[in-house]
Amino acid sequence: MVKVGEIEFPPRKVWLKTYGCQMNYHDTERILSHLSNLNFTKTEEQSEADLVIFNTCAVRDLANKKFYSHLGETKRLKTDPGVDPETGLKKNVVIAAGGCIAQTEGKELLEKYKQLDFAFGTDVIDNIGEMVYRTYAGERKFSVTTWDRSENYSIETKLTHGSPLAFVNIIKGCDKFCSYCIVPFTRGREKSRRLAEVVTDVRRLVEYSGIQEVMLLGQNVNSFGKDNGESLAQLLLELDAIEGLERIRYTTSHPYDVTDELVEAHGTAKKLANHLHLPVQSGSNTVLQRMLREYTVEHYLGLLAKMRKANPELVVTTDIIAGFPNETEEEHRATLRLLDEAQFDFIYGYAFSTRKGTKAARMSDVLTDDIRGRRLREILAKQMKIQENLRGQMVGKTYRVLVEEKGSAKGVLKWTGRTSCHRLVHFEPAEAQKDYLWHWVDVEITSATALSLQANLIRDLGKKP
Ligand code: SF4
Repeated sequence: MVKVGEIEFPPRKVWLKTYGCQMNYHDTERILSHLSNLNFTKTEEQSEADLVIFNTCAVRDLANKKFYSHLGETKRLKTDPGVDPETGLKKNVVIAAGGCIAQTEGKELLEKYKQLDFAFGTDVIDNIGEMVYRTYAGERKFSVTTWDRSENYSIETKLTHGSPLAFVNIIKGCDKFCSYCIVPFTRGREKSRRLAEVVTDVRRLVEYSGIQEVMLLGQNVNSFGKDNGESLAQLLLELDAIEGLERIRYTTSHPYDVTDELVEAHGTAKKLANHLHLPVQSGSNTVLQRMLREYTVEHYLGLLAKMRKANPELVVTTDIIAGFPNETEEEHRATLRLLDEAQFDFIYGYAFSTRKGTKAARMSDVLTDDIRGRRLREILAKQMKIQENLRGQMVGKTYRVLVEEKGSAKGVLKWTGRTSCHRLVHFEPAEAQKDYLWHWVDVEITSATALSLQANLIRDLGKKP
């Protein structure tokens, strides 16, 4: 039993559902860490939960719809107190919604969904303990969507898992206001942590929690440090010097903020992964202008050339929006041509969907869902061929991977690891009973398709102490 103020907290279970990007997944990890102070542990079964939390995403229409539907279904959890003898479900659970949708629609959600107890925005994640305390003190139907007005963004990374991988937030918010994007409205303005704080944080994670790989996170991560006269490149070089840290990744970048110093860091920081996610969104300059992306296709391709010169092993992935308002067939074909020129290893492709409150939502638009769907299919089909070719070139080569999970395909046991270039590789174990989880292994690629790589195990280097 944990006592906080006047309230006793017996052991309870929390069920969490996360939608959207890695920032959201990391926020969920922070929520869980704070709730452990109130005696909550995580459950994978909603039926066991005393507290149900949705961490929402407003970027894509599909994630929105899924959330509304999942939230609607929770009504059945809230009729009478106690456990329903027929369904075995706990009633009287506390239900909360946080994240991007809650930031902009918190009050409406509380009104529409009677079962919802509270809503909280993106900038109050670290106050979740206080909000849960309020509900157990008897308060319900409240919304907390205030912004953190303090000058500094200062946090410590929270871990709730035993893996050697950690997400580390280094900057929050976004100042770019791309015309289709809701993020600046749901996450606020850019604010960076201080470089020294991040370095101390990562050193602590390596020394005391056995972390070997960090993913530096931000909506616009390569804006890091602008407000403090610091930079992502400087941070990468300092992290590169931390003994015991093996790999550094960062996401998501904006082409406008890729500096020469950052390009150079890709050549000099040895632990920086051979992977860059650099969203291009469209291969047409006129569409990029309407998107307010602040760069041209030529500038983007120039950046790729410089990056690949700094690190010839670099693998690039991207995001593409198909069917931006009034996109012509020629503008669409420019995106198809870009795929040939850029040779992306993977693309996250989406058909445009309107986000309320953005500039793109106010554009008159002649495109239909059918046109958007067809253009997305054309983009993905072309990309599959490029991927198949790129991955085919890996056959016969050896890669070092960190093993992340075990699974079975057609009854054959396989382990899966990730290369420095962020590709997943599947291999059969040398000994069926051996546990390879979080081992570093060398594998030789034996076959490749557009979406998967099969390999033979060459060498097991074991777990790092
Ligand atoms: S850079 Fe553009 S797309 Fe990315 S989060 Fe900011 S506004 Fe959204």
